[in-house]
Amino acid sequence: MAPTVLVVEDNPTNMKLAVMILEHAGYRVLRAEDAADGIALAREQTPGLVLMDIQLPGMDGLDATRILKADSSTRDIPVVALTAFAMTGEEARIRAAGCDGYIAKPIDYHLFLAEVARRLAPGGGTPQ
Ligand code: MN
Repeated sequence: MAPTVLVVEDNPTNMKLAVMILEHAGYRVLRAEDAADGIALAREQTPGLVLMDIQLPGMDGLDATRILKADSSTRDIPVVALTAFAMTGEEARIRAAGCDGYIAKPIDYHLFLAEVARRLAPGGGTPQ
């Protein structure tokens, strides 16, 4: 069965692009537009990977990641942050929240798919 990827993203354009790339590559995709829905879906469906936008309405993606990583039912799911901020300090903040990696926006098709495949591989959730 194709691996399942949960995309938590409030921007419709970014969501559409991520879903299109993932589905084209054969992944099953779950979508959430905010942190609360994302956490609920992660708990219900146990996806193989979560792609987490950092800037979300209400609870942000870093707090959502902290919650997933504090929950024994979801802590082993790799979480990759989607972030428009490539500035110094941002990566440290993302790692500190428990994210296993990040993908810079705007999304680059090949880098995006490579990171998804890498994180879904055995041991892919291990922070580096
Ligand atoms: Mn956003």
